[in-house]
Order: sequence, then structure tokens, then C-alpha cells
Amino acid sequence: MRSDEMFDVVILGSGIACTLTLQALLGRLRQGSAQRRTLRIGVVEKNPQFWRGLPYGSRSSVNSLIITTLGEFVPPEERDEFVDWLEREHPQWSRRMAMLGGPAARAWLEHNAQAISARDWDEMYIPRVLYGEFAEAKLASMVTDCESQGLARVELINGEALAVRKGSRCFEVELDRAGAGRSQLASALILLAVGSPPYSRLAGSEAFESSGGVYVNNAYEPSLDANFARVRATMSGIAAGERNLLVVGSNATSLELLYLLERSKAWSEFDSVVVLSTGGSLPHRMSRDRFQAPPFPRLEALAGSASATADDVIAAAEQDVAEIGAEMRLGDTFHHLGQVIGTLLESLDDAEQRRFHHVHGMRFTRLIRRAGAEYRDAAEDLITRGIVRLTAGELVRLGATGGGRAELVYRPGRERGETTHPLSFAAVINCAGFEGVSAQSSHPLLADLVRSGLAQVNPTGRGVMVGPTYEASSNLFVCGPLLGGVFNEAARYWHVENVRRIHAIAQPLAGAMAERLLEAHAPAPEPA
Ligand SMILES: Cc1cc2nc3c(=O)[nH]c(=O)nc-3n(C[C@H](O)[C@H](O)[C@H](O)COP(=O)(O)OP(=O)(O)OC[C@H]3O[C@@H](n4cnc5c(N)ncnc54)[C@H](O)[C@@H]3O)c2cc1C
Repeated sequence: MRSDEMFDVVILGSGIACTLTLQALLGRLRQGSAQRRTLRIGVVEKNPQFWRGLPYGSRSSVNSLIITTLGEFVPPEERDEFVDWLEREHPQWSRRMAMLGGPAARAWLEHNAQAISARDWDEMYIPRVLYGEFAEAKLASMVTDCESQGLARVELINGEALAVRKGSRCFEVELDRAGAGRSQLASALILLAVGSPPYSRLAGSEAFESSGGVYVNNAYEPSLDANFARVRATMSGIAAGERNLLVVGSNATSLELLYLLERSKAWSEFDSVVVLSTGGSLPHRMSRDRFQAPPFPRLEALAGSASATADDVIAAAEQDVAEIGAEMRLGDTFHHLGQVIGTLLESLDDAEQRRFHHVHGMRFTRLIRRAGAEYRDAAEDLITRGIVRLTAGELVRLGATGGGRAELVYRPGRERGETTHPLSFAAVINCAGFEGVSAQSSHPLLADLVRSGLAQVNPTGRGVMVGPTYEASSNLFVCGPLLGGVFNEAARYWHVENVRRIHAIAQPLAGAMAERLLEAHAPAPEPA
């Protein structure tokens, strides 16, 4: 292998997990004194935009907001720095937003003008792209500093990582470089930061697409704005009464779509937007009063029991949540419930804690899904207008009825049989969730890593096994959603899908990587 293809560290995937870990790693290099030579760090990203990933850059809309308030979103260590940046850059970003974001951006700026001048940042739901800009700018200044001190050189490689092989002294990564074909590079250390696995395709979507139907499997590819524009253009060519959109899943993405639709004042272009989800509901609205502490009698009773199990905890949580009085907003009880569950889990033995993390964790997370007031109010407005119809049930398949239209075959409840929705749809957007991690993954790199044994799937099926230094195998580090289900002496999380958590993990992870680099005196890797 040529020396220009040899690196000390290669990061696969350049979203926020990459950015935050690289910031932490460069921070360590600046503090350290034992380093002998300039480290060569390669960053591989298949999208043209680096550092932002799917939620914090151009694949999302400039109008896409953070799900929680800024106070809950930003890592506490960065809060003041981020707010300073927001205030300093306010004239620029608000001008850019007004220019690029159309009526939705203008509505946001108007709605938040008072909070901005009152500096009420912690209570605001800001556009996600602002955190992306901040994180990128912060990293750029660290890179410049490290490069000028001769500590590290960071090189961007636009392409898709397809496979990784482990040689005797380093890894070899096979790449499909954008516009330049296949090539390899070698590295002593790898950081796997490719985000979540791909979205699972909906049953029947291939037939629907090949019949000419408009099917969006991943709302962020190529971008949310492009997909939204495509759906609107489709509706504009259809007779009134037939302009129906099907959204499968009621997660943050579906809510984001409804928000864009409402704030862009595009509702008159649609006759019906059917949102199909198991519960037939949207995430619960959070308010300023979101630290409500209602009684959770079953969970409280379990706290005194010496023989409580993981199954008891989830059953009690589900029953207690089902019985919260109508006078209480469910979204506002999340913090208290989280505390009660956290304390209860600590009292379980290790095996039961592990079981809760692996089997029930995501079920618990879904119990109280929350959304900011602006998103939720926009959706409510569309429901009131009779445009959005929330439908409970599980998709069985999409049926292609010809002429580019889909029918929805679904099961309205566990005990009930299949039924066909009375409407037919001109477009379908999949917001139903990700594939698991497996050797059959449609993500070539993940499938390869599982097949080769360099990564093993953890019991959640959503992530990979790692040790206390976040390594899937020696010198192959992991950050981001693939850590979901991590359960060891260093970390216990059933999901790793928020910035705070990723930031918290990035610090010890970068520490472990820096140590490994120094241990080896960062030798130049040789070909396998
Ligand atoms: C729509 C959305 C909204 C969210 N909103 C919030 C929020 O408000 N608050 C919050 O705290 N969290 C939020 N999250 C969750 C969270 O912040 C993310 O999960 C986070 O983006 C994870 O970062 P990542 O870098 O691991 O993944 P990603 O952002 O997905 O980045 C991974 C990158 O890897 C690249 N890649 C993948 N495979 C390869 C390959 N083989 N070769 C090269 N490149 C590859 C991808 O193109 C991508 O750029 C949101 C997530 C989504 C999807």
C-alpha cells in the first residue's frame, strides 16, 4: 500500500458522533506531551457534506427543530459556549434562515423573537442546523490549531466505506470514492461512526414504486426539502379529492413533516394526510411546566420489593402511565418517570438490569415520546383542519392499484384482521424506523463487519457489542447509535441517539483512542 494511503486514525462516517469524538481527540492531543510526530487522521463520508450527518446539516431542513428544549439538548459543558455563539452569530443565521426557509422560517423567527431578545435560550426549540454550524466551526478552529502545532493533519475523503479487513498491524478499508472508483486505505485505528442502520423498506414499496408511485423510504435522502418538494409537486398534478399522502410511523420525522407542511402553509395542497402508527398517536407535547411529578403507585410499590424483576418494572411503568389523569400532560411527566425508573433499576441485580436494557429499554423510551410545543401545535392545527388523520394499526403491505397510487393494507389491532384503508394514496413516506444490524444488512459496511466477525451484534439487534473502551474488536472503536444496548462497567444505555449522550461518550472514547495512539508511539501502519 502506498504511504499516501496510510493513516493513524480513520473515521468512517462524518456526522455529529464523528465531529464530537474528533473534537475530544484533538483536545487530548493538545493537552498531551508524549506525542512524537504529526498524526494523520482520515475522515470518510459518503455524503458531500462533512461533520453534520443527517440531522444537523443540509439533509434536514433549515426549518427542522431540535426535539427537546435547548436546555435539555445541548451538552452542559458546551451550553454557555453555544449560547454565546448563537447570540454572536444571530444576525447572520437569522438572515440566512429567513432567506432559505420560506414562510416556515419567517413564522419561527416571528414566534421566537421575544424569547431571543429575552435571551430565554434554554426554553427554545431552535433549528437543528444551528448546532451543526456551531459544532463544525468549533472543530474547524481546533483542526487549524492542531495542524499549526504539528499535532495532527485531518484529511477528508469523500466516498463510501464498503468493507474493513484486519491485518497483522493495521486495518485495510475498502472504499468506493465518489466519482473515483474503488480504492483502499490503511489505518492503525478505526472509529466506526456511520449512524443508524438504513431505514427498513415498507412491504409492497418496490411494487408501488415500479408502478410509478412516489415512495420516499428515507425522508432525509437526498434531503427533507427535496422530498417535501417532490411530494408537493406530485399533489399539484392530481385532481382535488385524490391528493392523499400516507405517512407510515409517527416518530419525530413524521412530526417534522407535519410541521413543515403546516408552517409552509401547504395544507391546501393536500386533501388527506393519513399517519399510520401502532398507537395512532403523535409524541406528547412538552410544556414549560415539564417537571410534573404525578404518583406512579405501582412503580413506587416495586421500589420496596427485594424481588422485583425487569419485567415487573416495565409492566408497572406501562400501567402507571396508562392511568395518569387526563388533567396531566404526559409529556410533562417524562423527567419524573425517568428518575423513578432510574432509581428502581439501580436496585435490581445485574442480570435484571441487563434484561431491562436489552429487552425493555426501547419499549420504555416509546412509552412517553415527547415533542416540542411548536411541532405538536402545528400537527394539532392540521388535525383540527381535518387534513391529518391519525390511524392506529400495523402496516401489512402497500398495494399498487395502478396509475401510481397505493392502497394501504393494515391491521388495526392485535386481535383484528387485515383491512384496506378507504383512501388511496398518491405518495407514501416511510417514517417507520431502521433495519436491525445483521450480516444481511442493506448497509454494505455493517453487513461486512458482522460477517467478518470484527463486530458482533448485541442482544438488542440494534447495536454492536463493545467493551469498556467502546471497541467492537481491538482498535475498532464505535460511537453513535450503534452503541444502543451497550451494557458494561463503563456505560449502560439502551439507545445512543441524542447529542448529550454522544458528547458524554465521546470524552472517554477519545481518551481511549489517544492512549492507544501514544502506547504505540503512533507508528506508521504497514500494509496487511
Ligand atoms: C431526523 C433526526 C432528528 C434528530 N433530532 C435530534 C434532536 O433534536 N436532539 C437530539 O439530541 N438528537 C436528535 N437526533 C438523534 C441524534 O442526534 C442522531 O442520532 C445523531 O445524528 C447520531 O449521529 P451520527 O453521527 O452517529 O449519525 P449520522 O448523523 O447519521 O451520521 C453518520 C454519517 O455517516 C455517513 N455514512 C454512513 N455509512 C457510511 C459509509 N459506509 N461510508 C461513509 N460514510 C457513511 C452518513 O452519510 C452520515 O453522514 C435526531 C436524529 C434524526 C435522524
